[in-house]
Amino acid sequence: MTTNTHELDRIAITVKSHMLLRQLLRENPTLEEIMRNARNETEALVGVRNWVLSDIKQNKDAYSFYKRETHGREAFEKLTWKDFAAIRILDYIDNAGRGFDDLNLRGEKAISNPIHLIWLAVTHGTGGAKPYFFKDMLMLFRQFSGTYKRKFPTTEKVEEWMDRWPTGLDPRIIKLREENRERILKIIIDKIDKKKINDNKFFFKPNLSQEQKYLKALEWWDSRLFHLRFAVRSPDLLNELLDNSLDPDTMKILYEAETKGIPFFVNPYYLSLLHVRVPYFSVGADLAIRHYVIYSQQLIDEYGSIVAWEKEDIVKPGEPNAAGWILPNEHNIHRRYPEVAILIPDTMGRACGGLCASCQRMYDFQRGNLNFNLDKLKPRQTWDEKLGTLLDYFENDSQLRDILITGGDALMSSDKSLEKILDKIYEMALHKIEANKKRPEGEKYAHFLRIRLGTRLPVY
Ligand code: SF4
Repeated sequence: MTTNTHELDRIAITVKSHMLLRQLLRENPTLEEIMRNARNETEALVGVRNWVLSDIKQNKDAYSFYKRETHGREAFEKLTWKDFAAIRILDYIDNAGRGFDDLNLRGEKAISNPIHLIWLAVTHGTGGAKPYFFKDMLMLFRQFSGTYKRKFPTTEKVEEWMDRWPTGLDPRIIKLREENRERILKIIIDKIDKKKINDNKFFFKPNLSQEQKYLKALEWWDSRLFHLRFAVRSPDLLNELLDNSLDPDTMKILYEAETKGIPFFVNPYYLSLLHVRVPYFSVGADLAIRHYVIYSQQLIDEYGSIVAWEKEDIVKPGEPNAAGWILPNEHNIHRRYPEVAILIPDTMGRACGGLCASCQRMYDFQRGNLNFNLDKLKPRQTWDEKLGTLLDYFENDSQLRDILITGGDALMSSDKSLEKILDKIYEMALHKIEANKKRPEGEKYAHFLRIRLGTRLPVY
């Protein structure tokens, strides 16, 4: 992929790219011959195309799949690993020179023409392609030549990988997490005692001993509200509750994240899954969770410039999105496929039990549609009306039969809000069935078959 072909034509490739290119040509003499003999990009494209076509034509199933004469699962299952490579190369050639809005490049146009890049590199040592491009081409042509075979890990291998770390059910890990809980609760108790935290629900009656306060706080621990109320919202408190165990480099990153406006929201339970004391058996055992909590430099660099997670998520009023759907508004309904659409309610469901560093909705957090201002997220009066209009969209669509209620997190909505949403969906589904009775055969709309709730709360 290139951003501007004319500019890249002059950009020299690096020494590392040269070495990988040399390896690519050494392993694929036919490719080398085509590249060295091609006087221009077109000859390179035609040469590679003829070479790969002559190969794929020997396999009828692969050739007709590539020509789109066959499709579907059954036809797909007949393809080999090598066929995938052949089709991918031909696809590159058929689409050579096409421009795409690349959301990874903040929406910049990217031009796809890998064969051109190889030809430029071979002929002029230019094209600007990076080493990972050549690495990718090396693997692609190994797959095509059959020297790179696909290997699936065995069950034993997968189990061996899983056994590298103890699970959360391991008594030693349970013990460590209890220690973490105790440390966190004691800090919170201290803050309440020193009046650094004032809460009208979570407070101590006068004259309780430290022991009694701790027992009370242990009761709070089982309450959902406690975890929302005491969720960490700053790097300093995060570090304090982790016994100041975060190193200065990590803290620097977290301060930068705070300045950049990335929200912090880590509930005490989730925090108790991160180990401060790390005996030999638990080294690395909390990494999967730690990476959800500690932001990366890459996220900080991108935050503020994230365009959207998927191009279909870019919705402009009155215009079809990338998948061709015209949606009622840009916040509440997302749709990529004919049969299913996502509903994001204007309720507490626009928050989550915590912000995951790898959230695929980071774009929505960036623009504030999803957030952790829990008081402000309580549904307004107008939400009832709006919900009706949004559900009209589902009722009046001939293909929709599956609704995914998400957010944020669907279960962050109060029981009352969720009940209202589910009741309205039920009514809408009934109306759809009723309306179908009046439609002639062959013109009936899809009935609702599935209502899904997208949530991560059970892991908190
Ligand atoms: S729970 Fe889901 S939507 Fe919420 S922050 Fe995590 S990944 Fe994102």
